[in-house]
Amino acid sequence: MAVMITDLCINCGDCAPECPVAAILEDSNEKNPHEGQYFYVKPETCVECVGHADAPRCADACPTEGSIVWDMPYTTDYEEYYMAGNENGTYKIREHKKKGLMLPSVKAQLFMDEISTEMRESHSNVAV
Ligand code: SF4
Ligand code: SF4
Repeated sequence: MAVMITDLCINCGDCAPECPVAAILEDSNEKNPHEGQYFYVKPETCVECVGHADAPRCADACPTEGSIVWDMPYTTDYEEYYMAGNENGTYKIREHKKKGLMLPSVKAQLFMDEISTEMRESHSNVAV
């Protein structure tokens, strides 16, 4: 990952069009594990806007403090974290026909290395 959308999200829709890699799903999307509740960031797709902007564009567009927060990098160091989250319904990681579940060991993603592990573990607000 990544950034994560929390239940403070008001489903305004301002973030999704800003994402350069189409990582954000609306509340009504059936691929969203929180379908019917709030928007969702696909951790297997989010690149934290690295190579696209200086900071997460989604958070820049979001009017609601605390609805877009930091999550762990989508790297093999966090393989088990994402696997467990996929099993408990926090995430709904894409299942590729040939490659299987698109976990970090199949495809890791870019992340902002200046963001501390503490900020990620505590799911700090993505302030921009
Ligand atoms: S941080 Fe960037 S890549 Fe990730 S969901 Fe937000 S806009 Fe998309
Ligand atoms: S911009 Fe913020 S409040 Fe609006 S849908 Fe996205 S995460 Fe939710």
